[in-house]
Amino acid sequence: MKLSDLTTLGIGGPIQGVIKVKSHQELKEAIRKLPADGKGFLLLGGGSNLLVSDSGYPGIVIKNEVTGIIRDKNNLTVQSGTNLQDLVDFANSSGLCGLENLAGIPGTVGGAIYGNAGAYGQAISDHLESVKVFDVISYQILDISKHDCQFSYRNSVFKRSRYAILETVFSLSSADSKKLKQISKETIKKREVKYSPGIKCPGSFFQNIPIEKLPAKILAKLPKEFILFNKVSAGALLESVGAKGAKRGDIKIAPYHANLFINDGTGKAEDFYKLAREYQGKVYEKYGIKLEPEVQLINFPPLV
Ligand SMILES: Cc1cc2nc3c(=O)[nH]c(=O)nc-3n(C[C@H](O)[C@H](O)[C@H](O)COP(=O)(O)OP(=O)(O)OC[C@H]3O[C@@H](n4cnc5c(N)ncnc54)[C@H](O)[C@@H]3O)c2cc1C
Repeated sequence: MKLSDLTTLGIGGPIQGVIKVKSHQELKEAIRKLPADGKGFLLLGGGSNLLVSDSGYPGIVIKNEVTGIIRDKNNLTVQSGTNLQDLVDFANSSGLCGLENLAGIPGTVGGAIYGNAGAYGQAISDHLESVKVFDVISYQILDISKHDCQFSYRNSVFKRSRYAILETVFSLSSADSKKLKQISKETIKKREVKYSPGIKCPGSFFQNIPIEKLPAKILAKLPKEFILFNKVSAGALLESVGAKGAKRGDIKIAPYHANLFINDGTGKAEDFYKLAREYQGKVYEKYGIKLEPEVQLINFPPLV
């Protein structure tokens, strides 16, 4: 079995096996059976934010298929393997607002929490109250408050811990269901301009950079139009060094968006990595800014 079958990019070499889990109990049992250092497995949601090496992953993949949503007034308790779009649809139909702009983002709720996914001014963490996790080292179940999740732009404590996210609680506000559905519909329409249906990609490859993370000297040299919503656009930086339309093997950078790397068919992870490193280097040379990947790299040396 190969990870290319489990990722939206359609890239990734062999794995030892896949365990599909449909309940917390199955997830915990699968983890307990593996080596106790918590390193012998990869927990996978929708596989929509991964670049996996051509040599694959030297362990087991646990595919999270634990789904379910329970409503209690304006609160939703959601299982981490729930498809994010299913959650958006449920909230919209229930007349609960706060998730409608996330429509069209692929993957699971667990994966979205891990990377604090967001779009159009909304993030998955905005209305999140707490997260229940399984600590894969101590085998304990813990409740993590929103504060302790340490959410920031495309980041969370989960990127720095060995927690398997089990479920989460959102506290949403009431709104007109029809209007919410309309917002999500329009959002999906806008998204399709960048992401045509069936596109083989992992979303935006590099992260935009919050302006407070950059020295004033570097910021002052950037064209004003590079800054959107207090972030420097990775796409604008890449475009300015000629990334649009660049190609290596079967991997190309979209001619209409410099931060969108696409597998044209039988692309290789190695070409993807080299193309990303080439343009990361060009941006660094020109601006002194080191772009960081938004996508999780599996079985690669770090890009930064
Ligand atoms: C066409 C396209 C458009 C996209 N648009 C956006 C966008 O607008 N905004 C945005 O933020 N992202 C976007 N993405 C990226 C991606 O969809 C999101 O990051 C998504 O939330 C990832 O969820 P997933 O379930 O697919 O995670 P996966 O890719 O399966 O996993 C990503 C990481 O999360 C970890 N993880 C997954 N589940 C759990 C869990 N239960 N517990 C602990 N760790 C876990 C994995 O181990 C891995 O490290 C896009 C991707 C594509 C392909």
